[in-house]
Amino acid sequence: MTSLDDLPVRADLRGKSPYGAPQKVVPVALNVNENTHQIPEAVARDIVQSLAVAVLGVNRYPDREFLDLRSSLAGYLGHGLTADNLWAANGSNEVLQQVLQAFGGPGRSLLGFDPTYSMYPLLADGTGTRWIGAPRDEDFELSPETAAAAVKRHDPDIVFLCSPNNPTGTPLSIETIEAVYEAARGIVVVDEAYAEFAPDGTPSALSLLAGRDRLLVSRTMSKAFAFAGVRLGYLAAAPAVTDALRLVRLPYHLSALTQAAAVAALRHSDEMLAMVDDIRRQRDRIVTRLGELGYRPYRSESNFVLFGGVRDPHAVFEALLERGILVRDLAIDGCLRVSAGTEAETTAFLDALADVDSMA
Ligand code: PMP
Repeated sequence: MTSLDDLPVRADLRGKSPYGAPQKVVPVALNVNENTHQIPEAVARDIVQSLAVAVLGVNRYPDREFLDLRSSLAGYLGHGLTADNLWAANGSNEVLQQVLQAFGGPGRSLLGFDPTYSMYPLLADGTGTRWIGAPRDEDFELSPETAAAAVKRHDPDIVFLCSPNNPTGTPLSIETIEAVYEAARGIVVVDEAYAEFAPDGTPSALSLLAGRDRLLVSRTMSKAFAFAGVRLGYLAAAPAVTDALRLVRLPYHLSALTQAAAVAALRHSDEMLAMVDDIRRQRDRIVTRLGELGYRPYRSESNFVLFGGVRDPHAVFEALLERGILVRDLAIDGCLRVSAGTEAETTAFLDALADVDSMA
């Protein structure tokens, strides 16, 4: 049988591995930071009605400019943004890929602060962009000084700042974002995939957009909005940035069904976000209980918790899996990551971990 190595794959992709979070059917899946709550049934019915209308028109290509969706997203974000500032694609992964296609590529570089979202180096590989992983401060925090110094030293074409950061959960201050923007000559993307889980009143990088034409803020409907299966990520930036992204997007990249589903969901954003408070409570429960069990949870403003003090992460991962619970082993020394689930799922994880502990 022909294997990958026998094919004339691009030399710079040889030996690389694809994104690989395990996909296992288990009773309690807390491994990819999904919102484990179903969307409200009343909202689902309204979405289906919109889909029924949209499907009657699928003989035609969808609105290539997805104007209704961009207006709805602008309305959701506020901050004086209009449709001209908004862009969207099939998940924020695709948004980030388009950013690299437009602003990165061969001979250009992307800087991020490790450990960070594992797709960043993969997206860099796929677009022929050089990945630069710079270190963080103690406890995975990132001060304005550390961040700006790395940007000055490496002079990247693009910086990705993940706020709060995946997989550590640690928030990023507005001061750090400002400092990076000042230090950078190129594009600065703040990936706010988990922003809605931050404490109320936490300022978003959206508040920095005015007058900063190289600043891009990406968001997703996959997390707080409980819409991961639909694949809708988006970005707010100066209108010229969306002009640049039009150069690389595929025509009609957002299907009529995706657009209709997202617009309908955004009509119900309050109901869609209703579970965020409960998820934050479960996250805080996890932090407290992990501390009681002798682990070392890192500061989290997202819907997941990275915790250290795990003697053998792989063994604990497997022992939890045997008990029907899937968490994430990211190969960070002595650490595992768990997403906050429903109250019952969170309880199942905490009880199973206590049980694993008592066996050790
Ligand atoms: N950014 C971060 C930090 C993420 O953790 C994820 C998903 N795990 C994404 C972007 C991509 O999400 P999506 O493509 O579903 O919008």
